[in-house]
Amino acid sequence: MRIAEQVTFGGSALDRADALRTDPAALAAARADPRARAVALWRGKPLLAGARRDRLARLPLDHPALAEAATDLLLGCEAGAAVFAADLSAWVPPEGVPETLGAFADPSEQRHPALPADHAFAELRTHMVALAPRDAELAATARGLLGWHRSHGFCARCGAPSAAERAGWMRRCTACGAAHFPRTDPVAIMLVTRGDHALLGRSPGFPEGMYSLLAGFIEPGETVEAAVRREVAEESGIRVGRVGYMASQPWPFPASLMIGCHAEAVSAEIRVDPTELEDALWITRRELQDVFAHAHPRLSAPRPGAIAEFLLRAWLADRLD
Ligand SMILES: [Zn+2]
Repeated sequence: MRIAEQVTFGGSALDRADALRTDPAALAAARADPRARAVALWRGKPLLAGARRDRLARLPLDHPALAEAATDLLLGCEAGAAVFAADLSAWVPPEGVPETLGAFADPSEQRHPALPADHAFAELRTHMVALAPRDAELAATARGLLGWHRSHGFCARCGAPSAAERAGWMRRCTACGAAHFPRTDPVAIMLVTRGDHALLGRSPGFPEGMYSLLAGFIEPGETVEAAVRREVAEESGIRVGRVGYMASQPWPFPASLMIGCHAEAVSAEIRVDPTELEDALWITRRELQDVFAHAHPRLSAPRPGAIAEFLLRAWLADRLD
């Protein structure tokens, strides 16, 4: 699809510098280079800069704010200089930890006393659309990788502690030697259409008025196409024929890869599975235009930056190729 990489987190061709990960001398030299930088995260929230929080901050590795943070996780290289991820999660903000941390949308911001006034840790979901593609890719990579380290401190095979290797792109068990790699969980998300209608569903817990595309985790032993057909049938009772790939989106909340598909329905009658969905409906292009114009009486617009919004806009613009 020609427009596939315009999706938020769609990639900026970051040089991930794989060769540096396994070359300790070259990695040490890259760290010692004064042009090396770190992007900082606090409990999953990236450090953003600018009054509108539309830039990912890059700090020199000797910045006082990083004094107690590990900065040994290599994200890649920009203009020949290494970029690392720094985890400041151990820091406790003066005002304490907000109750909204980890909520669907966390409006709180945290300002570190050693950083300029226009720098703050802020929720990536809220600000991702404003970031340039490179900043979005670095933020998504850092968030996904730090989250994996945080939840994979022990060997899944024997339970002993594991330790990071390869500049943060592997963990090795200290007892049995098993190697563990950062995980990415594939999720199929599908634009199901039937003529001039698209299928939308509403999960329990969605904000009021919000409907989105159906989606579900791909299971072991399953193709993307089979997962699309199974999820749509399970959740809505709709049978699907042809399935085609449209675009993908890394979704580091915490570790998903959204695989966006177009699926053609071969049945029309909706039977919602109440354990999966609160409601599902067919919407026409005309109605969807009203939704995007915030003029629909019941439905609110999909969240900007999410691949569901991207796929629906592509359908409205008749750009499913
Ligand atoms: Zn082990």
